[in-house]
Order: sequence, then C-alpha cells, then structure tokens
Amino acid sequence: MKTIDTFDFKNKKVLVRVDFNVPLNDQFEITDTNRIDAAIPTIKKILKGGGSAILMSHLGRPKEGPEEKFSLKHVVPYLSRELDVQVKFADDCIGQSARDLASGLKPGEVLLLENLRFYKEETKGDEEFSKKLASLGDVYMNDAFGTAHRAHASTAIIAQYFPEDKMFGYIMENEVKSIDRVLHDARRPFTAILGGAKVSGKIEIINNLLDRVDNLIVGGGMMFTFIHAQGGHVGKSLIEDELLELALHTIEGAHERGVNLYLPTDAIIADKFDNDAHTRITVVDDIPDEWMGLDIGPDSVKHFSEVIKNSKTILWNGPMGVFEMENFAAGTKAIALAVAEATSKGAFSLIGGGDSVAAINKYNLKDKVSYVSTGGGAMLEYIEGKELPGVKAIKG
Ligand code: AMP
Repeated sequence: MKTIDTFDFKNKKVLVRVDFNVPLNDQFEITDTNRIDAAIPTIKKILKGGGSAILMSHLGRPKEGPEEKFSLKHVVPYLSRELDVQVKFADDCIGQSARDLASGLKPGEVLLLENLRFYKEETKGDEEFSKKLASLGDVYMNDAFGTAHRAHASTAIIAQYFPEDKMFGYIMENEVKSIDRVLHDARRPFTAILGGAKVSGKIEIINNLLDRVDNLIVGGGMMFTFIHAQGGHVGKSLIEDELLELALHTIEGAHERGVNLYLPTDAIIADKFDNDAHTRITVVDDIPDEWMGLDIGPDSVKHFSEVIKNSKTILWNGPMGVFEMENFAAGTKAIALAVAEATSKGAFSLIGGGDSVAAINKYNLKDKVSYVSTGGGAMLEYIEGKELPGVKAIKG
C-alpha cells in the first residue's frame, strides 16, 4: 500500500477527498473550523512534496442541485489563510471549468471543487460521475474518515481509477491505525467503556467487543436495561423492554468468554428529567417508582475508575449519565479523568462517538488521551467489525 509519508508527490496532481462539511452561520461564516484544521497537515505535505492538491468534499445535505448556503466557496478565504496559498475554486466539481482549472494547476497550488453533493450521483456512487472526477487528478487520496462508511462516488467508487496511485491522508491513516490497534493489537488488560442513552444501536458493538476485551464497563441510560433484565427495580429510568432478553444474553456471553462485565452498583436518581430535580443516591436495583437514574453513583465511579486505571488499552464510547446537565455530569467527568490518568501511566486510550468526544473536550482532556476519533458513525461501524467501503477501496 502507498502511504502519504513515502509517496513522491513531485509534479503530481493529487485528488483529495476531504471532509469540509463545516457548519456555516447566516452570513456564511464557518462557526467550527475543526474539520478543515484537521486536513491541513495532509494538504501541506502534498504541496511540500512538490505536488498540487485538488480538494473535493461535501457540505450539508443539498436536495436539488446547487444552493448558496451549501457552497464550498465560503471556505476558500479561511482555507487560503491557513495554507498560506490563494486557493482556486471551481464552481462546478465536474465539467469544463473544473477540467481547465485542474489542468492548469502548478506544483504548490490548490484547487477546491464545488460541493460534490450538488450532484445526486455522488451519494449514489455513480461510476460515470466518479470517472469524471478521477480524470482531474493523477493520484487519489482519501482523508475523509467521517464518510468512510459510505460507498459514495468520491469516497470509494473513484478509487478503481487509480489502481496503483491511491492512499490515505493523515486523518484516515491515524483513524484506521488507532482503531486497528485497539481491535487487533490491544495490550491487556483491555477495557471497553460503553454508555449513552440506549442499548439499541450498540448491540453489534457489544457483540464484537465481547470477543476482544477483558473488561466491559456499562453505564449511561443503557445500564438500566441490564439491571432490569436481572430483576432490578429501576423506576422510571430508561429501559428498552424489547432488549431485556438480549441484555441477559450479553451477560451470559460475557461470562462464557471470561469477560468481566461491570455494571453500576449505585445511581444518582432524580424525580424529573431536569437539572433542578430533587436528587438522591440509591442502590442501582432498587429505584423508587417515580424516580429515574440519570448518572452512575459514587460507589460505581470508584469501582469503574479502579478498573480503568489498571488497564493498558481503553476504548470509550458514550457518557455515563446525562452529562449535559451539571448535576448529572459527575460520573462522566470522573471516568474521563480516570481514562486520562491511565493514559499518563502508559495505556492507549481511544475515545469515539459524538458524546464521549464532547465530554473529553468539555473537561479539556483532549491532549491527555491517546486518540479522539472524529469519525462518528464511521468509527462505530468500524468497531462493530464492519468493513468500511472507504477503507476497503484503498486497502483492497
Ligand atoms: P448516545 O447518543 O446513545 O451515545 O447517547 C448519548 C446521550 O445519552 C447523552 O445525550 C446523554 O444525556 C444520554 N444519557 C446518558 N445517561 C442517561 C440516562 N441515565 N438517562 C437518560 N439519558 C442518558
């Protein structure tokens, strides 16, 4: 496989699928530049190596063709400043103007193509459309992990036109490396921490992880389905009745595989779903009828933290409680701190999934964990054990 660090970019036009799907306000200003910032090292590497970059991305979810509010031209000024290069813009991602601009591109120059999703062919994975995009560059690079789980024209189908000259950018490379390290090369003990609202949506993750981890910690809203399945009284806490049997099956599966399954022993309960609710700490399986559990309790925090601090590999997805409300954030914060402490003692920690990433950022721990995945849905599908079309298209 070719890699960005070893490839000779001299005089090559590199067609890069980036993820510039950034939020814009009413004045079309970027309100969160993270995704663009993350792609800068990849683009700079190409330019420094004597190549030019043709960038393609989607932005938002346009329905019927071009729309001002989804135009990628709005990112040109910021991107030009960050790269210190005046970025050229093709107001159609295929067609004559794009071809002319691409063919005139010189080493060190950057061309950004208009939103790929102004064509329905992009999400349909249309071959002809892919071919037209492919004709613009000499080399294909995918650096958009966030869309790697989609078989779209620019994320997967296009790769066939570059059988020799295709590779990951730095974001993709790091994401794939970090998740592979956890799934296939974990130092032990390996602990997975799962939280968030519901068990549904995480069933395949649990199944895949049971074959790999030493410890599985379950918190968040999903813990109550497990507690209730074992006969616990959980009041008005979140439970998914249709998954009670599956929860029991998971508990059994963990037992059979010698995986330690850690469920909370206590919970912070509230008399309504509100930060100003009355709260109490109770044992987790004897919650009064009108109350609901909104965070793990101090005893569980202590117990979970100990397991985490003794781990050498950690995967964390999903908050321990309703951490958006200050009074139910203590469990999530404590777990985040325990992950950071384990990392400082040499553990490899991977944080993935929107809300655990938000929690890590909220407590300023981004630099104290090993890797924060930006992938969202793509990352979850990867840890479910699925093959991502965007990854497969490059790796083969
Ligand atoms: P998910 O998208 O499944 O990872 O769920 C994240 C959401 O789960 C966050 O918005 C949390 O507020 C919510 N959550 C965590 N713990 C609980 C709980 N005990 N009851 C209800 N919602 C919860």
